[in-house]
Amino acid sequence: MMKCQFIFNLELSYTPQFLCHPMSLIVQKFGGTSVADTEKMKSAARKAIRATLAGHQVVMVVSAMGKTTDHLIALANELTPNPSSREMDMLMSTGEQVSISLLAIALHSLGYEAVSMTGAQMGIRTDSSHTRARIQSISTERLRQALDSGKIVIAAGFQGIDENFEITTLGRGGSDTTAVALAAALGADECEIYTDVDGVYTTDPRVLPEARKVARISYDEMLELASLGAGVMHSRSIEFAKKFGVKVHVRSSFSDTVGTLITAEPESLSAEVCGAAIAKNDVRVSVFDVPDKPGVAMRLFSKLAEAKIATDMIVQNIGIDGKTDISFTIPASDLKNTKAVVEEAVGEIGAESFEIDEDVVKVSAVGLGMAEQSGVAQKMFQALAERNINIQMISTSDIKISTLVPLDVAQEALRSVHEAFQLQLPPKAAPAPSKEAKPTAPGGRTALSREEILSKIVGMEDIIIDQITLDQNQSRITLDDIPDHPGIAARLFDRIAQAGILVDMIVQSVGHERLASISFTVPRSDLEKTLEVARNFAKESGAAEPGFNEAIAKLSVFGTGLRSHTGLAYRMFKTMSDGGINVNIISTSEMCVEIS
Ligand code: ADP
Ligand code: ASP
Ligand code: MG
Repeated sequence: MMKCQFIFNLELSYTPQFLCHPMSLIVQKFGGTSVADTEKMKSAARKAIRATLAGHQVVMVVSAMGKTTDHLIALANELTPNPSSREMDMLMSTGEQVSISLLAIALHSLGYEAVSMTGAQMGIRTDSSHTRARIQSISTERLRQALDSGKIVIAAGFQGIDENFEITTLGRGGSDTTAVALAAALGADECEIYTDVDGVYTTDPRVLPEARKVARISYDEMLELASLGAGVMHSRSIEFAKKFGVKVHVRSSFSDTVGTLITAEPESLSAEVCGAAIAKNDVRVSVFDVPDKPGVAMRLFSKLAEAKIATDMIVQNIGIDGKTDISFTIPASDLKNTKAVVEEAVGEIGAESFEIDEDVVKVSAVGLGMAEQSGVAQKMFQALAERNINIQMISTSDIKISTLVPLDVAQEALRSVHEAFQLQLPPKAAPAPSKEAKPTAPGGRTALSREEILSKIVGMEDIIIDQITLDQNQSRITLDDIPDHPGIAARLFDRIAQAGILVDMIVQSVGHERLASISFTVPRSDLEKTLEVARNFAKESGAAEPGFNEAIAKLSVFGTGLRSHTGLAYRMFKTMSDGGINVNIISTSEMCVEIS
């Protein structure tokens, strides 16, 4: 039966075209461990053959064999600690070229027609940021020709070519992004991600064996989990999936069990948390005694943004005596650059000193449901307090709560959060219906349709802004100089929850001499009640008299690609500071950047 598909020619500025294709199309991606030796390659080849025999056209996207990419990087580092990024791309891209050709040979040996293609041959055009390039367009003509002539196409993951024909790579783990981008460009029916686990779990099953495989997870949740450390998917691949509505199926290379579907809807509409993640490669940077004036913090972040350093968990304590402390986390891979940038900035902005802590991990809980439910953050703080785990930093947003805890308690912290939300058990409510693939967004917002998205972007990986909202009815409360020991956040937010107050944004950071500072926002109508709780808490715990700002506004920007495009928080920051507005709290998540 002829099947009509809506195909977008992405190179011609995304003009929609109606084309009729006789067959359905499946993209199958195989990660490094799934093609680690020729036996595994044959078994991957058999999966593609089976799909072909079932009547599908098949594009296989393949990673480098086993740990090849690591070995190539190690070789370069034997020569110099700072190899040229152009040459690194030239080097790393060879890994995928080896596996695609071998896989084509494997298919030929099994009697099937197949052709391998590099990024350049497929027309995957990227920008010129070597080792972290972004896809701008994919010309599908050559792929289509090969598919229509009955061949299985074997595509090199992780690589592309820039306008000067230079080979680029998309960043570690980027083959997932190649796969989903190809699925989007070709209008594939499904993108299967074959890997060494049989689906997406509530947390990394290699860290917590009690983790549960989820049947389904929403784009927003997967995106958040991926960017908070769940390495099972490259987070940028989920940006593609969400933008273009690609149905993604994560499953095992080594069995035929059904895996996890990543789609618009969550597994359960009522669960407050769907998963927990741990990020071990984060480093905390604290800058002390920064002059508390509009524009000062902005200068620090502008320098970090210029150096393309992705900052997360940005917490700015509320200034006392005209001085404030700023803490944030950065990826460990950016540590050297960050040190240089911060050292320079400290002198320039008149700050006192800075501190770097590498022995930290970020433990996060994620769930679309938490936007609608109160006490979720409290539950997480309580779980950590019960194990006597000290929280160094907190940052919350609509769909995630992140805490920074000491590295040596990483697994215990993750386990306590996982248990607190009973993630090992299936969600109580019936799974969300699967039929209506309507794009949804939390808080009753409606997401843009695929057509609206396509009409807005020039490059495939461009940032998309769906909506900007302003909530003018908030107040901010700050507790400063709290002697820092395990359980303070848990006790404070327990009292606040008991008073029936709904807390919105929460940030906490450590300052000088192990004194913590917690700021949070509440509805303005609850300010008096909250202050009473806060004053009692301050007296008991030896903290300073709470400070507050009665009238603050929360500006939220919703969209896709907000975090992987470094610098959006900075741009908002700058706009505020240009207008002479002081920013109190910043919170970033995958789908929302908020400042108040
Ligand atoms: P591939 O080489 O196939 O791309 P990766 O190593 O990149 O595979 O991703 C698979 C790994 O992701 C698993 O082996 C698992 O340890 C890890 N992982 C982290 N978080 C999760 C999670 N929430 N669910 C499943 N796997 C996870
Ligand atoms: N081979 C690349 C890496 O190891 C890309 C990938 O496997 O996704 O990062
Ligand atoms: Mg991977």
